[in-house]
Amino acid sequence: MLIDTHAHLYWESYQNDLDLVIQRAKDAGITAIINVGVDIEKSREALQICEKLDMSGVEGYSTVAIHPHEAAKYISNETLKNDTQQLEQIYLSNPKKVVGIGECGLDYFFESNPGFIPPSITIDEVKVLQKKLLQAQVDLAKKLNLPLIIHCRDDRSKDPENSEAWDDTLEILGDQSAILHCYSGLSHNTSYILHTTNLTVSFAGNITYPKNEYLREAVKLLPLDRIVLETDSPFLAPQSKRGQRNEPSSVKEIAELIADLKGVSFEEVASQTTQNAKSVFNI
Ligand SMILES: [Zn+2]
Repeated sequence: MLIDTHAHLYWESYQNDLDLVIQRAKDAGITAIINVGVDIEKSREALQICEKLDMSGVEGYSTVAIHPHEAAKYISNETLKNDTQQLEQIYLSNPKKVVGIGECGLDYFFESNPGFIPPSITIDEVKVLQKKLLQAQVDLAKKLNLPLIIHCRDDRSKDPENSEAWDDTLEILGDQSAILHCYSGLSHNTSYILHTTNLTVSFAGNITYPKNEYLREAVKLLPLDRIVLETDSPFLAPQSKRGQRNEPSSVKEIAELIADLKGVSFEEVASQTTQNAKSVFNI
């Protein structure tokens, strides 16, 4: 029994063989998949795919949100208000299936994706817009009593232990329940998380990459009752499939490595992380 808490099954690369992808997930023991939205349209598509998942015998759930890469579109407060209302409408259309607000957050790693900043605004202005966009979604999560799925990224080449994006994110989140998606393993964040009760971390396929020893250290430091599993499909394929399209079945490989690192059985990792995901998403 495994849950993939973060996949994007509406992605174009699944257009031709989604049935097979779901079947392989089922064969790998995945019982539920959370399909994560990144903008209004994708949040709608994420919800639509739940039906297909349910019919295939894997429980389908979705989340709604606007990704920080979209922040430059929200210079007008009116646009932000309208779009936040649209996210709420998607939730209200099927509150049993829409189980969270995500992925939203802050992404200050601008060099990795220069395309998302229009030349007319500065980096500092984009940061302000990202914070405003995140705050609106934290407010929505509070209003609807839903957990958040947080995307937070900074430029690791600067000073990995001194992350402005993380400081800002944790401040805006406050004590709202949230999953830190694709956890980046900074040691001062791990200590912070250990002192909270509202934060759960989600590990993805990048814990299997040879150079990511710091992530495996974070796996060892965090107790199993604070961890959930994700694939971020179609991204972040584990080492065995690196560079290829990822899919939810590979959540098994992540669970196996976590079991190994913690010196516990695969079954224990599967059952505890499944219980954690069910409790965060109230499913
Ligand atoms: Zn994602």
